Amino acid sequence: SDLARELKASIRTIPDYPKPGVLFRDITTLLGQPRAFRRAVDELVHPYAGDNIAKIAGIEARGFILGGAIAHQLSAGFVPIRKKGKLPHETVRIAYSLEYGVDEMEMHRDAVKPGERVLLVDDLIATGGTAEGAVKLLQQMGAEVIAACFVIDLPDLGGRAKIEALNVPVRTLMSFE
Ligand code: IMP
Repeated sequence: SDLARELKASIRTIPDYPKPGVLFRDITTLLGQPRAFRRAVDELVHPYAGDNIAKIAGIEARGFILGGAIAHQLSAGFVPIRKKGKLPHETVRIAYSLEYGVDEMEMHRDAVKPGERVLLVDDLIATGGTAEGAVKLLQQMGAEVIAACFVIDLPDLGGRAKIEALNVPVRTLMSFE
């Protein structure tokens, strides 16, 4: 569709960032175009309108930008999921796998209540390790993770299956092979 083409054209690709051989998909160019930003948010939101989503959980840092806009549109709260050591109150923490090695992410212990319907948001899913950690953290706190949504899927890296294995549907707006 025209929309899919316009959105895809708004993504900038940077070769050899952050290291040689990597093609980095940069959404700042999408965020900087008023129509593209609005339409990306509208597309991410529309399946969940009227779906009683209590909270949007956004993954640091680009998930905060999209997640804030989505939360506003769905009249939901916003929960930041951050790299360890950044949140001021009592947190729950989980280790997650990166392409090389592991790291830890956190959220506030009181950020979601058991049974709350939560939508997870990030800019891009690659191996799925980051989103998998976030889903597990939310599920451990009793949240019902309704879906995980991303602007970009890198399907060759298999992230979708990792999230679907946690009984969470994945929604993406475009793929780059
Ligand atoms: P994963 O854990 O392998 O799925 O990697 C996804 C995480 O790394 C997300 O938080 C993304 O923001 C980030 N990421 C990985 N590759 C890219 C990229 O090409 N562009 C933007 N972010 C990326």
